[in-house]
Amino acid sequence: MSITRRGFLESAVVASLATGLNAQDKSKRSQTPEPSSAKRPIILCSNNGRNYLDDAFLFLKNGGDTLDAGLHVVKGPEDDPFDDSVGLGGLPNEDGVVELDACCMHGPTRRAGSVGGVRNIKNVSLVARAVMEHTGHVMLVGEGAERFAVATGFPRESLLTDRSRKVWLLWKEAQSTNDWWGPGLASPQWKPPLTPPQSKVWEERIHQLEEHAAQLGIEPEFRAAAIRRVLSPPTGTIHCSTLNDKGEMSGCTTTSGLAFKLPGRCGDSPIIGAGCYTDQDVGSAGATGSGEENIKVAGAHTIVENMRRGMSPQEAGMDALQRIVRNFNNDMTKLKFMDMTYYILRKDGAYAGVSLWEHSSPTSVHRIAVHDGTRRSEQTVALFKGVSQEFPPFPVTIPPELKEDSVYLK
Ligand code: ASP
Repeated sequence: MSITRRGFLESAVVASLATGLNAQDKSKRSQTPEPSSAKRPIILCSNNGRNYLDDAFLFLKNGGDTLDAGLHVVKGPEDDPFDDSVGLGGLPNEDGVVELDACCMHGPTRRAGSVGGVRNIKNVSLVARAVMEHTGHVMLVGEGAERFAVATGFPRESLLTDRSRKVWLLWKEAQSTNDWWGPGLASPQWKPPLTPPQSKVWEERIHQLEEHAAQLGIEPEFRAAAIRRVLSPPTGTIHCSTLNDKGEMSGCTTTSGLAFKLPGRCGDSPIIGAGCYTDQDVGSAGATGSGEENIKVAGAHTIVENMRRGMSPQEAGMDALQRIVRNFNNDMTKLKFMDMTYYILRKDGAYAGVSLWEHSSPTSVHRIAVHDGTRRSEQTVALFKGVSQEFPPFPVTIPPELKEDSVYLK
């Protein structure tokens, strides 16, 4: 099943010439096409995989393996030093060390592989596939996973880019009580943040961070984005599900997890059934967002099982979101500090993207990327209007004058 990059691109180019495909960008809301209009092959992924869809789609259309196609998509952001949610350049844990999680499921052979908390290896999605192909296990973690990766030919390399290191340093210097220690959202002892400070205090804090950022040598054009990452530590991940014209399906998910997490923390991404689940008799699903909450509802597996019982992709995803809401007894003071997006593909090509909150930031909505002959981004269908406040809760409200300044909200 393994394929070299050169071979991958060559087969994609052949297919491209044969079909004369012309990708068009269209922005519309994610919806479930009626089975009659659902298309195969199709690839569904997080929006940060969008730029890698063309090659992968052509490869799939040309008879390429479904998992190889998905891994091609997620490898793009893993290799990109400027995508700080995954692979090289991912934001590190609280010790300044990048730790990556990934998993994959290969529908045609009904196999799975997974790695958690891996340091020094960039393409953990491919390591997850190697676990699946070269061991009798499903999941390897930590040092053992790293040693396995090196043994199977993956290079050890530093994953902390200068940019991510500086954002981490800025976060370290800005630390007060806003870290991951202490009772989590699910604890009865958790208390919502106290009254937001006045915007003057907020402005002063940003001003101090700007000075620190300049002292650390963070480039002026990236300074505002770095400050935002410190004030609201971001999540970020890529999931991809694929379906070929024969009805074969695969899925994979890869991430650097929550920024500044506790060392050793594994999120939902490497958990088969949470961050990804594929059963090609039914469909494939994956998740990005608050990993702790997704693990507790076994999100991807729940969605596939919902579809098995007859729900549409959208209904199946909405039900998983409702389970998260139920886990918090509909308590909006807590739900506003988490977010979740599910990517759902049924075996007939019907699909949906659903999210807990409509917006991913005050200025942008959650999107999925799709390629079924036309590459496009689509807005997810959301359970709640508006935007979540990112977790861990940061006890400030962005003052309106800064809200207008989109560079702070990237
Ligand atoms: N789900 C990932 C995690 O919890 C983060 C994300 O998707 O943004 O590690």
